[in-house]
Amino acid sequence: MTLHIETPLVESRAMSAITGRSVWLKLDALQPPGSFKIRGIGYACETYIARGARRFVSSSGGNAGLAVAYAGRRLGVPVTVVVPETTTERAKALLHLENAKVIVHGASWQEANAFAQSLIGESDAFLHPFDDPLLWQGHATLIDEVFRFGLKPDAVILSVGGGGLMSGVVEGLHRNGWNDVPVFAVETTGAASFHAAVKAGHTIELEQITSIATSLGAKRVCEKAFQWSKNHPIQSVVVSDQSALTACERFLDDHRILVEPACGASLAVAYENAPELKDFSNILVVVCGGATSTIDQIRKWGRG
Ligand SMILES: *Cc1c(COP(=O)(O)O)cnc(C)c1O
Repeated sequence: MTLHIETPLVESRAMSAITGRSVWLKLDALQPPGSFKIRGIGYACETYIARGARRFVSSSGGNAGLAVAYAGRRLGVPVTVVVPETTTERAKALLHLENAKVIVHGASWQEANAFAQSLIGESDAFLHPFDDPLLWQGHATLIDEVFRFGLKPDAVILSVGGGGLMSGVVEGLHRNGWNDVPVFAVETTGAASFHAAVKAGHTIELEQITSIATSLGAKRVCEKAFQWSKNHPIQSVVVSDQSALTACERFLDDHRILVEPACGASLAVAYENAPELKDFSNILVVVCGGATSTIDQIRKWGRG
């Protein structure tokens, strides 16, 4: 048994027509908690239980926290999520719906996270949102499924926040012998911590996050993501918030699935037939999903 589901892999006729290439969608927006995160977090939670954990603790009011809450409910393990005062009512309601205990603490994520860390006892497991080898192993199942399907893409487009998804997808490419398949690592302006790391030659902490794509809002990517940029063909791409928002609206029209701007960033690269795609004819887009946006919010942001 796994906590994630095997998601559909479908061609986007709309994106294929726009780009003149075959564009394939791995629909992880359809995971029960709304994003790919359950792949890695589900795997990590099962591993931590096997090692004796009796409670899961998270400090994410976003999709990582939702995945921990979902995993805990399914496994019968209590979950505590510490979130800052800035967390939306919607995010708290979604966590409650998964039976998580929600503690509101502090003005920033840093304060919430510090409090969460102080709660960790011997029989607790803390679930990091992106920097944990167990997460990457779990995320890699996304590529195992594409491999089993029998489709070898000539490029993969995915979004980067802290770099957990990318580290997992590249691990998946390597464990299936697809070391030669390049990855486009997409971020939004104002959340481009991977772009900054590649430019600087080392990971770097952004002063602040100014993008509306909050799920990409890690100020610093994990070391593993940066290391992969030296051991795998990875190209950093940065798109505007507006491009990500427009892509979300088009995707809802074309595929009847609502995703966060964090995911819209990757979709925008295909919808805009970005020049970076020029050498590729069979492209896989990781539709990473996200449960924290509503269409009203996306339209409001889109109007500026
Ligand atoms: C977490 C998340 C990301 C970024 O993943 P990282 O592992 O932090 O790079 C992208 N999109 C969505 C919807 C997410 O929830």
